[in-house]
Amino acid sequence: MDDRKVPHTTLRGPARSTMLDPAGLYLGDNGRCFCGQAYCAGATAYYSGHDLSGQKVEGPLSPEDIAFMEQAIGHPLTCETCGKGGQR
Ligand SMILES: [Zn+2]
Repeated sequence: MDDRKVPHTTLRGPARSTMLDPAGLYLGDNGRCFCGQAYCAGATAYYSGHDLSGQKVEGPLSPEDIAFMEQAIGHPLTCETCGKGGQR
C-alpha cells in the first residue's frame, strides 16, 4: 500500500464535479443570482449543487443565457453578493 490519494468516488449524484465554477454565474434560491465562489453561493449550493430548498442550482449560465436574461430584466446580471458580472 502506498499513500497515494485514493480516486475520488462520488457519494451521490452524477460523476461530474459537484463543486461550482467560481468564474460562473448561477441561479438558485428562487431566482437569486450568485457566482460560483463558495462565499457567494453558500456552502450547500457550492458543495452539493443544490440550494437550501433542495432545488438544483442552475448554471453555470452561458454567455447566451446571461445576455437573454439581461434583456429580460433590463440590467446587467451580477452576483447578488459580490457584484461580479457574467463572462462575455
Ligand atoms: Zn459572487
